[in-house]
Amino acid sequence: MPELPEVETIARGLQKRVAGDTIESVWLGSKPQTMKSPPDEIARTLELSRIQEVRRMGKHIVFELERKGVPRPLARGKLRKKLKPLSPRSQWIVHLGMTGRLVVCEPSEKLEKHTHAVVKLASRRELRFVDPRRFGRLSVALQGDFEAGGIEPLEVDLDRFLKLFRGRKTPMKSALLNQKLLRGVGNIYADESLFRAGVRPKRRVSTVPRVKLEALYGAIRDVLTEAIALGGSSISDYVDADGEEGFFQLQHRVYGREGEPCLVCKTPIKRVVIAGRSSHYCPNCQK
Ligand SMILES: [Zn+2]
Repeated sequence: MPELPEVETIARGLQKRVAGDTIESVWLGSKPQTMKSPPDEIARTLELSRIQEVRRMGKHIVFELERKGVPRPLARGKLRKKLKPLSPRSQWIVHLGMTGRLVVCEPSEKLEKHTHAVVKLASRRELRFVDPRRFGRLSVALQGDFEAGGIEPLEVDLDRFLKLFRGRKTPMKSALLNQKLLRGVGNIYADESLFRAGVRPKRRVSTVPRVKLEALYGAIRDVLTEAIALGGSSISDYVDADGEEGFFQLQHRVYGREGEPCLVCKTPIKRVVIAGRSSHYCPNCQK
């Protein structure tokens, strides 16, 4: 499942490839769970909009759209009444879920199975959304005011970070995964950050001393920044039709290494389940 660094990498890749292009038409598949906004509304918002910018918000990919024309009215008159007016600025929001991919390709390229959206661009290329497991979501913000919730972990300052976590009774790991606090930190990077900060995943937030929280603040930023830097070198592979194979991954120090020796002290890495998610830690290095 793509986490913040992967989504950032994908958003940067799309920014390079499709920013400035105009959407001419949109085809949407019929799987209802993929569409978080009404399909008609998605199509109408995208059609004849120029993609100004593609960026990441939390784990969402956000296409900033600027209206360039008014799409043809829908044939069905009674639906037309319900349509909200088009605004000069809007957003297309894509959440990749577990297996979602955005592919930029030539129209002649074979349509992959599980393609749920095909966006035709003025440059004669297509942007396709492919998602076999269908946890991905497409939606639009008609006024361009999408809120991803929580705070960007790479933008939050130390004071705000400390306030966010202060006094919480939940395990540290649960707090890190809580998207209402920090957005976009997932299982892998939470484990890696806690290891670097020397904090056990199960430890209650309120019992973690300030100095450790400060260390965690730095660790989260380091881990995410390093992972984004690694991803940056594989952008083009990822958004091409071949999908994930181009991704370089941060070498995990604890995640997925249950029973293997800690890279610092050789103690076997332990795995516990917290809130239904596997957590990996070194019982010696993390207190
Ligand atoms: Zn250790």
